[in-house]
Amino acid sequence: MKIVRINIENEDIQFEEITPNSKYLLRGARGLSSQIIHDEVPPLCNPLGNENKLILANGILAGSPFPCSARTSVGAKSPLTNGIKEANVGGRPAMMLARHGIRAIVLEDISLLLKLILIDEYGIKILSAEEYKGLGNYELYSKLKQKYGENIGIYSIGPAGEHLMKSATVAANDLEGYPSRHAARGGLGAVMGSKRIKAIVIIPSKTSKVKMHDIKKFREGSKPFAKQLASSKEVFSTFGTSLMMKGMSGYGGIPTKNFQMGSYDKIDNISGERLHELVVARGGKKRLACSPTCVIKCSNLVVDEQGNHLTSSLEYETMALNGSNLMIDDLDSLAKIDHLCDDLGLDTIEFGGTVGVAMDCGKVEWGNAEKVFKILDDEIRNNTEEGQLYSNGVKIIGEKLNAKRIPQVKGQGISAYDSRVFKAMGVTYVTSPQGADHTAGAAIAGRVPSQHKNYGELTENENKLDLSFELQIYTAILDSMGCCYFIGPSYENMEIIANAINAMYNLTLTRDDVIKIGIEIIKTEIKFNNKAGITQEMNKVPEFFREEQSEPIGLKFTFEKAELENFWKRLDEHNF
Ligand code: SF4
Repeated sequence: MKIVRINIENEDIQFEEITPNSKYLLRGARGLSSQIIHDEVPPLCNPLGNENKLILANGILAGSPFPCSARTSVGAKSPLTNGIKEANVGGRPAMMLARHGIRAIVLEDISLLLKLILIDEYGIKILSAEEYKGLGNYELYSKLKQKYGENIGIYSIGPAGEHLMKSATVAANDLEGYPSRHAARGGLGAVMGSKRIKAIVIIPSKTSKVKMHDIKKFREGSKPFAKQLASSKEVFSTFGTSLMMKGMSGYGGIPTKNFQMGSYDKIDNISGERLHELVVARGGKKRLACSPTCVIKCSNLVVDEQGNHLTSSLEYETMALNGSNLMIDDLDSLAKIDHLCDDLGLDTIEFGGTVGVAMDCGKVEWGNAEKVFKILDDEIRNNTEEGQLYSNGVKIIGEKLNAKRIPQVKGQGISAYDSRVFKAMGVTYVTSPQGADHTAGAAIAGRVPSQHKNYGELTENENKLDLSFELQIYTAILDSMGCCYFIGPSYENMEIIANAINAMYNLTLTRDDVIKIGIEIIKTEIKFNNKAGITQEMNKVPEFFREEQSEPIGLKFTFEKAELENFWKRLDEHNF
């Protein structure tokens, strides 16, 4: 496996082999991107300037049959938080890169002309992409498939990335070929836009360069794990993440009316059950895998009444932040918002949070879906002043409008779980070096990092610092393997991971060794952030979560400020 460094300006390409002695051998995906950013990116640099680097990295288990192991981590210094950022994405390309023998692509410097990177059996070429300028991801993918073939892998940016908008994503094509998968958080699409890279296209290789030391031993561990995942996630596979809509509203913790409430009286109209009925009745698809080796298959494909594609995969976060949060109670409207965001290359979480703040300030009427479509399709697509207002994140619009409620931490909008209700999720938002990102340590109902510990009720403070801490460490490990966190960030699964790495790389790691990898990744990220001026004193929840009770269950965020500032001190003393 190798790391490919591409200087976008002078088109110089360097290859670095990852040997058994390489410091990168046990750094994959998030672990690798965070290490490279820490080692090579000046912490105080302009995220959209020539000193920042954009890294697209496979996991340590990429290219193997380990379940759900074909995700790409995209990393850079974030234009949204100004700190270190990783966002991972499913889709086709990670597995294809691995088969070409590539663990990571590092994009360096910036170009003035729009370019495309083409990877095939014969090497890597840098081509002009001026003909694709301004295209939405859907049209871009259609043109790229016509030119390079149906089976290509693609990473790309839409207009939002080209306009350097801080909510811009890096898109990847799913197994049906749609640009539905996004490394969405942190504005990494703007970093790709600043480098003027419109797309990276990967032509499938005929043979795989992935090396496996002992496939028999590998399968002895991974096959039963895959089987157990497939059978234990049956309900989740059928309904997908949207199943949480009713559950979160029932808990009183779904963002509603810009977090003024935690339950939505019209939740039945936009529930996961309702979406499931609609998908089945119209002949859409459910139980879809977003990337190769996924055995859980939580994704869906939504069509209109005539059977035409509306969007691929309508998920909980998008539905909550653009549904209950904006008081939009219609699934077709949510599918359209999702489609437009995918086409523009815009983070649906950051966008929903941003519009929520604008509605709370009276700039847009609650529930006005037509206005939301217009903001996306006219203003953001055409990069108008209004488009800029809605595409640079929750914090920027909140400060511009002098808003009372700005649901963000360290510059990044809060995901679809109210911190006053889901206590450990609140702790993750506040303490994660990645900003308010639920995927960094998602403490939702039923998720416990160890079967042998008691973490208390989800809505109470008891043991939630430990719960968030352990989830954040285990998640950093899954992120570095290139695995989807739905396989479970748990102490128990770290043993399975250790066995898989050992069989693949002829090593003798223990579970503790693997946990140390997670600890080192978090330490590296915190070190970078400290130097970038993102300190532990900034581990703060928005004041309105401390001052206003959640409705209807009357909770506030009550962790002491010192507990949050000192949170990462347990990195050296915690007992797993
Ligand atoms: S479980 Fe869902 S999100 Fe994870 S890899 Fe599978 S389809 Fe994608």
